[in-house]
Amino acid sequence: MNIFSGLKDILGQINKIDGSIYTQGRDFADVYAKNIALEEEIAARTKELEQANQTILTLNSVWDMMNAAQPLSSMLDKIVSILHEDMNYNFVSILKLEISEKDGSYFNIKSSSQDKILNAIFTILNESPETYKIPFLENSIAAKAINERKILSTPDIEGILRMCFPQLKEEQIKEKRNLMTSKSCAIIPLHSNKGNFGCVLVSSERDGVTDTEMNFLSLFANQIELAITVADLFEEVKKQAITDPLTGLFNRRYFEENIIKEAERALRLKQPFSIISMDLDFLKKINDTYGHQYGDIAIKTIANVLKKEARSIDIPARIGGEEFNLLLPGVDSKGAGIAAERIRKSIENQVIETIGGITASIGVATFLEHSDRIDELIELADQAMYKAKINGRNQVQIAQLSNHIDWQKIAIETFMDILSKKRIPVSDNVAQKIKQKLNKIETEDKNVNDILYSVVDIISQTYNRMYKTGTTKSKLLLAVLLAKSLDLSKEEIDKLKLAILLYDIGNIKIPNEILNKKEPLTEEEKSIIKQHPIIAAREILKPITSIQDIIPIIENHHENWDGKGYPSNKSGIEIPITSQIVLLVDSFYAMMQDRPYRNAYNIDEVLKIIKDEAGQRWNEKLVDEFIHVVKTEQLQ
Ligand code: GH3
Ligand code: MG
Repeated sequence: MNIFSGLKDILGQINKIDGSIYTQGRDFADVYAKNIALEEEIAARTKELEQANQTILTLNSVWDMMNAAQPLSSMLDKIVSILHEDMNYNFVSILKLEISEKDGSYFNIKSSSQDKILNAIFTILNESPETYKIPFLENSIAAKAINERKILSTPDIEGILRMCFPQLKEEQIKEKRNLMTSKSCAIIPLHSNKGNFGCVLVSSERDGVTDTEMNFLSLFANQIELAITVADLFEEVKKQAITDPLTGLFNRRYFEENIIKEAERALRLKQPFSIISMDLDFLKKINDTYGHQYGDIAIKTIANVLKKEARSIDIPARIGGEEFNLLLPGVDSKGAGIAAERIRKSIENQVIETIGGITASIGVATFLEHSDRIDELIELADQAMYKAKINGRNQVQIAQLSNHIDWQKIAIETFMDILSKKRIPVSDNVAQKIKQKLNKIETEDKNVNDILYSVVDIISQTYNRMYKTGTTKSKLLLAVLLAKSLDLSKEEIDKLKLAILLYDIGNIKIPNEILNKKEPLTEEEKSIIKQHPIIAAREILKPITSIQDIIPIIENHHENWDGKGYPSNKSGIEIPITSQIVLLVDSFYAMMQDRPYRNAYNIDEVLKIIKDEAGQRWNEKLVDEFIHVVKTEQLQ
């Protein structure tokens, strides 16, 4: 497209005709006819010029868009709307070529102009444009355009429909084709710096693609390719960025990545780390009174204090507008409290032009002390910060263990209570042995868990000779892994641990002859066995105040997902998730051990039985998670 040579051409012709007017002068009719020809010529050239102008404007807007470095998706939407609205294409779609191991090569619709007929097709196919995969067929026009890097056009719109929607029946294709007004389609291949990107598909009411249009489309394609490359680079750079532009502190992403690394290290070395969560007080008021730029100065002031006060291994980050976090590796809550107070004072002492002074509210939480989960730790630090706000701002608050239950302490007290008050029928010998173990905990408290597991092993062996020592520990570990993978809170997990220690204690009151019977049980015997959750819950544990929260978990630990369990025929989400976990873990270990009436199954058989009963005895999703946990942890 050369607008200037076009213009020169027209001017040349005008001069020529002007000359002929003056030299031949008199032949008016001739001049008149020539004038008409000239007018037509000028009209045609003007139209071309207008088109060229439009092209330049269009290319310009792609260029602007590129400089604005927008995300790829909005860039592609803009390209579609330019082609559809400004360049008058009936339909425009940008298809990205994807390659996956599972589906081979296919096109993904990245952006598309609105089209009723297309919507109707997606409805027929029960598909959505966002997830639909257009097969990449080697002999199709799209493949040819991409492989040969050439714009190709075709009047065969039915063929394009067949290529995009091979599932449509022939009569459906014909019917949809007849509803369309387009006469031709063009495929414009796109390449980015990473290779084949895909193509643009356009359709118009023109019979084919003229040279001018072809010229424009290839210029346009170059611009799109450049835009895609820039957008890709922009997104990559954004991903790599670790600092916040306003303050130069680390950004949220970097902070979150590092807290994960720090948590891994802390768990490995059994060393705490702390986070300080901080929020500027009354920023809105500063913005409203002095203007946004002063708000920004306040934010930068806080950032500078953080940079100055942080050690080189600490990670100060701007998490959101006015929220800051500081990660303090290796520091316990006492140390973090001191650091936080130093930061608070330093902020208070800053003098800012016009605003005067600022203050901040600060919360502190420590890994391994307040929680051993990252999400919970962040939540606790935030809660502490809000507490500082509520208490009057400009202060430091250390996280509180909200609803914390010391499950080990409760377990010890419960067993002591059960044995001293003779709530379970065990021999004096056994009771003595257990009490001695529990008493030992008071003095050296290192192996509390192991002592608790062995207490439960001993109690279980009084009514089940086949209960293997060590099973309680395995059960508890598996239950906790499952609960963590389901994202249960620390509080729920602590309750679950207690439930695992206590859920079968009701069995101790069931006659031994029934529990150890080799022959099939009578209906009456079965109903006696089914009493054990109730016995545990209502007879043994009911009088113990500290265990009340655990009772519902135990009472429901034989309810089934389909409502066919016992004792209350509860079903689905009526059953507490912790009870569902107890049932699954209990059944898993029961099947792995010998019973008077059968031998142990191996792990593959057990997992198969569990899978087979998914949807009946237990929730399918829970089973999936369970199997995943068992397999990844290689539990036996
Ligand atoms: P509080 O003491 O309870 O935290 O009061 P506050 O006014 O600081 O808190 P609030 O959450 O009510 O308002 C926060 C304000 O911070 C609103 C928002 O416009 C402003 N803000 C967030 N990010 C920025 C920023 O980058 N620059 C500026 N100037 N203001 C920001
Ligand atoms: Mg604030």
